[in-house]
Amino acid sequence: MYKKLFIPGPTHVRESILNAQTAPMIGHRSTDYSDLQAEVTPKLQQLLYTEQPVFIYTSSGTGVMEGAIRQTVLKRALVTVCGAFSDRWHQITVANGVPVDRVDVEWGQGFSPEIIDAALSQGDYDVLTITLNETSTGVMNPLKEIAAMVRDKYPDVVILVDAVSAMAGVKIEFDAWDLDVVISSSQKCFALPPGLAITAVSERALKRAEQVPNRGYYYDFLNMLKYYKRSQTPATPAVSLIQALNRQMDDILEEGLEARWARHAEMAELVHAWARKHWALFANEAYLSNTVTAVANTRGISIADLNKELGKRGAMISNGYGSKLKEKTFRIAHMGDLTPKDIRWVLGLIDDIVGLAYSATR
Ligand SMILES: *Cc1c(COP(=O)(O)O)cnc(C)c1O
Repeated sequence: MYKKLFIPGPTHVRESILNAQTAPMIGHRSTDYSDLQAEVTPKLQQLLYTEQPVFIYTSSGTGVMEGAIRQTVLKRALVTVCGAFSDRWHQITVANGVPVDRVDVEWGQGFSPEIIDAALSQGDYDVLTITLNETSTGVMNPLKEIAAMVRDKYPDVVILVDAVSAMAGVKIEFDAWDLDVVISSSQKCFALPPGLAITAVSERALKRAEQVPNRGYYYDFLNMLKYYKRSQTPATPAVSLIQALNRQMDDILEEGLEARWARHAEMAELVHAWARKHWALFANEAYLSNTVTAVANTRGISIADLNKELGKRGAMISNGYGSKLKEKTFRIAHMGDLTPKDIRWVLGLIDDIVGLAYSATR
């Protein structure tokens, strides 16, 4: 049975977007393809409030995280860890033999600029990783404030941002905040099928990459840039997905960026209020995410059973992430093309299944 996805990726994909993938195939070295990439790229730049390059990698987001680590660290990276996805930056760094230190906060907490400042002041770092939205805990870190602190006190530090579960759901002003590499995947807030990683890259990051001798091949920013200038990619891209991306970007811009951010905020508020009333929020109130909520299972119900029941009614949420949070929390994603109406519907279903007196639909 078809289930509407309220999981933090892949998210619900509208039929018109699925259908956009069935356009006739075109050669990736043809002008037709260059026209397509040249058409979609300015829309992505608008989404990220940037005039700098936005690359379209055929890859999941994790691939670009690895690529970014490989080609930006000359000295040492500082990795900020507040959950399972931010820990991935650390695993990638170690796996590539890149010098790294980590600063941790408890899961459910976020990073203030002060914590990061204190950690950066302890070593000679040239890269900082930040996970804008920690999907395992429902924490959104204050990226704008963190970036302002870094630019003020550590101007040469390259800021790598995992925005996989945030880009196209919340405002990210790439140029004004002076960020360096901001990575996303198509299957989260973009509400596309998986397979693309949209990545903005700054002049500072490109300059750094020039100095790194063994920066890898597939993700090499400088090689990407060379092809980007003629609206192509070095290797064969997922043309059908880019057709869908182009179509989706039209819809996103037609909705209006401010309206899209506001819709995400409205959905988040609905879920947060419901969770406060009937359960508890796992994340610290000061760092609540606008795209996914981790709800503490204060009623001690079986989340696996809840999801089975939801499945019979045509919806799916996520259990807690990993052995640490499974059954202790559950997650409701409110990202992409979902609407407040969808959210009221799924919360109402949970209320019915769990037998709560209150219903979010009332
Ligand atoms: C989903 C997710 C990832 C992994 O993205 P892939 O596209 O599966 O590689 C990384 N970071 C965050 C915060 C995520 O939510």
